Amino acid sequence: MTPQINPNTMTDEAKTAEESQRVGPPYQTAKGVHDILPDDHEFFTYIKKVVRHRARQHGFRRITTPTFEFTDVFNRSIGDTTDIVSKEMYTFQDRKGRSLTLKPEGTAGVVRSYLQHNMQTLPQPVELYYIEPHFRYDRPQKGRYRQFWQFGLEVIGESDSAIDAQLIHLFYTVLQDLGVADQFKLQINSIGCSAKNCRPKFVVDLQNFYMGKERNLCEECSYRLPKNPLRLLDCKKEDCTILAKLAPQMRNYLCPECKEFHGELLLLLKGLGIDYVENDKLVRGLDYYTKTVFEFWDKSQGAQNAIGGGGRYDGLIEIMGGLPTPAVGFAAGIERIIENMKACGVKVPTKDDIHVFVAQLGFNAKQKALLLMRELREVGLKTVGALGKGAIKNQLRVADRFKVPYCVIMGITEVRDGTAIIRDMKRGSQKIVKYETVVEEVMKLIGAENLDTYTPGEVLY
Ligand code: AMP
Repeated sequence: MTPQINPNTMTDEAKTAEESQRVGPPYQTAKGVHDILPDDHEFFTYIKKVVRHRARQHGFRRITTPTFEFTDVFNRSIGDTTDIVSKEMYTFQDRKGRSLTLKPEGTAGVVRSYLQHNMQTLPQPVELYYIEPHFRYDRPQKGRYRQFWQFGLEVIGESDSAIDAQLIHLFYTVLQDLGVADQFKLQINSIGCSAKNCRPKFVVDLQNFYMGKERNLCEECSYRLPKNPLRLLDCKKEDCTILAKLAPQMRNYLCPECKEFHGELLLLLKGLGIDYVENDKLVRGLDYYTKTVFEFWDKSQGAQNAIGGGGRYDGLIEIMGGLPTPAVGFAAGIERIIENMKACGVKVPTKDDIHVFVAQLGFNAKQKALLLMRELREVGLKTVGALGKGAIKNQLRVADRFKVPYCVIMGITEVRDGTAIIRDMKRGSQKIVKYETVVEEVMKLIGAENLDTYTPGEVLY
């Protein structure tokens, strides 16, 4: 953990020095977390819509698990030798001394929920998706935050390799929809299963290979060797990568079932037109994976800027107290997707554009403006007014900020005559119309197809 400075124990000098260095207001977001401001929300909303649309098309239903769980849910599922559990969890005690943890990833909570709500009694597979924030005490840097959003999809209760292929294809389709698929390449591997001669034998041989070579490993890998030797294969330190190249390869240890499964999956991916790289150093950080593991890597930056990944976890439901149940899933990072969309110049459609601005002068006009705005909104015209601003000129400045195409202006004369001015902001032209026809006139100008209407009960997404 980074040392925390306690302001109560700081000397006055230190406090003044810190204060003079501080730029901006005294309260700022904590390190590694950020506000999602309106411009970025347009990206978030769009991504969520695309995910919901594609997930629904495939029969997935949405699940939201709580933001925190009992710590054991993560210790047990993710595995206590992983980076996440050993150093990245936000763990705290509640007032009764129970250990709770902000969720660092989505699968553990979904599996806990699957078991808690007896979903094994439903027709299998159960297909669930989530779009939620996660929390990891990571070293903040570009694309790496302490609170970040992921969407993830899980298929529980089916063991066929076609399910893995379909899920990877779905992920790829979402990336295509968002305009970033060309930036990424699928990396895929099989890390075998728990059959005696499959991964367990590989792990023993891997440990034997590294025995006596510990001096050449980085500190982290020496520490991982006895507990989680697979992770040595994906270490990015130069000496470790040299050794990893010489290390035994999982593909030579796959049992016949895992071999057949992986072969089928690659064929199915080819059939679906998805390009991939077979990467025998890809192991993923988490303990619970079996057979398929995959990630989408940035074509130029590699693993550093992976957009998401996942794999099969056929043993996890049993580890969590259920009957043996096959499953596969993935998660993708929304902030990283947005960074890539921006870098690619992807423009997202927005519904935040305002159709019409109502300006008024005098109390009577203000009263009429309130009624008019209500009517305009009721027919689906997105309407704003600057009710607190005085002069028309100041109000029209606000209208400019909203970039509205039309303004309705009512002053003392218009109220007296029962009229209103409709101003075309682009052309700078205007016309006087009867007050009763304003809604109809503006509707015509905006076009029925652009109205933003909602009928109660209608599905909005
Ligand atoms: P993981 O399950 O750790 O592979 O995470 C899946 C995806 O979530 C990654 O490929 C990233 O896009 C995203 N992600 C993971 N950790 C972070 C983080 N600390 N900050 C931002 N995005 C993250």
